[in-house]
Amino acid sequence: MNKRKKIFFLYLMPILFLTSSLTSFASPEKKPLTVAESSNFTATSRYAEVIEFIRELQQQSSLIRVETLCQSTEGRAVPLVILGQPVPSSPQELRHDKRGAIYIQANIHAGEVEGKEASLMLARDILLDEKPPFLDKLIILIAPILNADGNEKISPENRPTQVGPEKGVGVRHNGQNLDLNRDSMKLESPELQGLVRNVLMRWDPLLLVDCHTTNGVYHEEPVTYSWPLNSNGDTAIIEYMRESMLPSISTHLKDKYSTLSIPYGIFMDVSNPEKGWRTFAPQPRFVTNYTGLRNRLAILNENYSYADYKTRVFGCYHFLLSILDYCYARLDEIADLVAAADRKTIQRGVRPSEKDAFAVEFEMKALKEPVTIHGWEMKVFPREGRWPRVEKTDVKRIFTLPYYADFLPKRTVKFPYAYLLPDPIPEIKEKLLQHGIVLERLTQAVELEVESFQIKEIKAADRLYQGHRLNSVKGEYILEQKKFPEGTVFIGTAQPLGALAACLLEPESDDGLLVWNFFDRYLVTQWRETLQTYPVCKLLKPVNIPKEIRR
Ligand SMILES: [Zn+2]
Repeated sequence: MNKRKKIFFLYLMPILFLTSSLTSFASPEKKPLTVAESSNFTATSRYAEVIEFIRELQQQSSLIRVETLCQSTEGRAVPLVILGQPVPSSPQELRHDKRGAIYIQANIHAGEVEGKEASLMLARDILLDEKPPFLDKLIILIAPILNADGNEKISPENRPTQVGPEKGVGVRHNGQNLDLNRDSMKLESPELQGLVRNVLMRWDPLLLVDCHTTNGVYHEEPVTYSWPLNSNGDTAIIEYMRESMLPSISTHLKDKYSTLSIPYGIFMDVSNPEKGWRTFAPQPRFVTNYTGLRNRLAILNENYSYADYKTRVFGCYHFLLSILDYCYARLDEIADLVAAADRKTIQRGVRPSEKDAFAVEFEMKALKEPVTIHGWEMKVFPREGRWPRVEKTDVKRIFTLPYYADFLPKRTVKFPYAYLLPDPIPEIKEKLLQHGIVLERLTQAVELEVESFQIKEIKAADRLYQGHRLNSVKGEYILEQKKFPEGTVFIGTAQPLGALAACLLEPESDDGLLVWNFFDRYLVTQWRETLQTYPVCKLLKPVNIPKEIRR
């Protein structure tokens, strides 16, 4: 050993060893930063950065588990993060556990990115807290990057009117060019199939939160929100969320986190804003409306696209915290509400009465309470055949407006005891099973009085929409005696998803499988012009029939 080497081993190496061991023991590991934070709010994370962030959390905490929500079209494993103390290895562990699951979903539209950043920050801040909050009562599920394929098409040219991040955001559609927030009924994307199978059916969260960014009405509030809107779902859930839960969360968000929020909406008429503030459509193709039809709570979070990116990320972060604060304080109340909704749905299906109507048309009405919007005076420039261009002035204005967010039944049809599918069309069966609806098969032939729908007119839309030409139908219901062979598919409505089954199968449902072209092949025979009867029959009154669930 030469002299230099000797000095190194005798003197320097112990010092190096000591300092390195000191650093690893003395300072705790650094909390990982999201891309939003580390870029000083000029960028949003790529898929690989989200995965890396989750791995860092796993290295620092034992309270996290990762599952795969789905495999995207372009081959990315979409992560579902589960936080719990202890973190359950499967939902079966929760069967005798009082904890409730809350699910937060972000980036369904990959140009709307603050939910992705905020939900990752939230996971980190819960997990790496000295006393991790919420987890003695809540299991928190987070899908930070639902639309991973859309996310990877980041460009500053996407959503140009949105204020940041300047390095760009992803695109709205997924790898199949589909809008995932229109896919809840047809379930054609791996993302929505994964959501239903691996989140809603597997973990059965009490509440789903879906994070978005608005498309541009001027107001000061950085956070907007909605509840499920479809009144074919449990109206007690809608009323609870609208009248009690969300107003309380909004107040809490303002008092505790100094963040303003309003119910989601746009002006009915920008040239005449006094007419009112209106929400979006009640159809269950939207994830939050769909979740309501499954008797679970759902919050649409739309962050204000003209607030700067940092404000939006923190607005969303604090909104999510406020939601968790509420759920933590009121877990039993929420669990009771959900259980009651399931019970009521089952009871309704056991013996449907005249009152149990199914709405096929809705009328949008104003709620009893007006909304207050902190806006500005606007300049409106009409455009031929397009939305007018709107410029905000510097003059602030507070609008107190009727809020059109109540969808009351305008035309209804009878709600049945069961639907019968005598020709067991495989793709219809498959679709119903994907939703988690329980199907039975008749084990012997039977003759029954049923209501059939005779289609008189069917029109496909001129415009292509989500890869479909949506059908609208006219027809009449006829009562008839009909023979059903052994093997007929029986879909009873006495099940927790009874309302969803009706929305999928009712011939005049405004978002059902007939609308989405699933029955097209079965409506006209090859050589004839005449339309066939809709292949699903309605059994209106309870009848005992031998049948079985075959798996
Ligand atoms: Zn969106």
